[in-house]
Amino acid sequence: MKQKEIGKIEYQNTTNHKITLKEDFELNPEIGNEILLSYQETEKKTNELTKAMIIDIKDNEITIKLDEKIPKAEILDLKIPENSASIHHPRQKINKSIEEKNLHKLVLEAAKIHGHICPMIVLGIKVGADGIKKLNLRHEGMEDTLVLTETNSCFSDGIQTSTGCTFGNNALIYRDYGKTAVTIIKRNEKAIRYHYNQYNYIEKNYPDTYNLFEKVVKNREGTPEEQKQLQKKWTEIALDLLDTPLKEMFKIKTTNSTKHLNLPKKAPIFKDRYCSDCGEKIMAPKAIKENKEHKCIPCSNKNYLQLDGSGLKEINQKNNNTTKNKPP
Ligand SMILES: [Zn+2]
Ligand SMILES: [Zn+2]
Repeated sequence: MKQKEIGKIEYQNTTNHKITLKEDFELNPEIGNEILLSYQETEKKTNELTKAMIIDIKDNEITIKLDEKIPKAEILDLKIPENSASIHHPRQKINKSIEEKNLHKLVLEAAKIHGHICPMIVLGIKVGADGIKKLNLRHEGMEDTLVLTETNSCFSDGIQTSTGCTFGNNALIYRDYGKTAVTIIKRNEKAIRYHYNQYNYIEKNYPDTYNLFEKVVKNREGTPEEQKQLQKKWTEIALDLLDTPLKEMFKIKTTNSTKHLNLPKKAPIFKDRYCSDCGEKIMAPKAIKENKEHKCIPCSNKNYLQLDGSGLKEINQKNNNTTKNKPP
């Protein structure tokens, strides 16, 4: 490879490198950009390629963090791949995949948080991507895109990946109905509800895998070998589903209004309160007023709501029993 004049490289023998770019070296970096770095090992004289991320920029000096340590080397070239994520557009790659209907890339993105690839995560990705595209939405932390999910199963992690609506950014509303269904919403305009209605799809179409699932997951009786086998089969089915038309799997209904959904207003900012017992800070609506003082829920011994594998439950702290199955 012919060497380009990049600039001065401060080799730190860690995974971080400081690079002072020459003024005429075109890069236009942003923090968070993925970067492709080609280098020549000083001793072996072989050319290698690796990935890095830009973690700091000061004038024409950038700091990059490499995926792995490299031996003493000379950096030959730096490139920012097209559609590299950046601090300003962290979901750029995901949005591009949705636009191009290239959902394979999203499966791994979803598996990064979900931990495995499974049929329902793929269906979640698909409905999320379909809704985003049909309603012409772009979610980068704005609250005009909302998702109302009716389940907290694998399906919802797929939806969070493709829509960008999560618990943390308040764009994901959870209704504890226990149905594999989701509504993708453009606030005050339109909504599309997808309801999964192929109830016995795996049992009918992949009976061997279904039996294996029963043994390994439902009855928890699988050997490590069978667990591995199930994961492999599960991934194969998931990838098959990527190519299955949504209308074969879901009842889909579009509405030109969102009134019937009774949506919450944009997330309010609440005052802080401090618990008079433990001193910890509490969001005002969660503070319990007792004799002119505020207490947090654990210190006041009041019931609390918990979201877990069985949905939302109200837990009674005093006897640690589940009381009701719905919010107060
Ligand atoms: Zn799953
Ligand atoms: Zn407290």
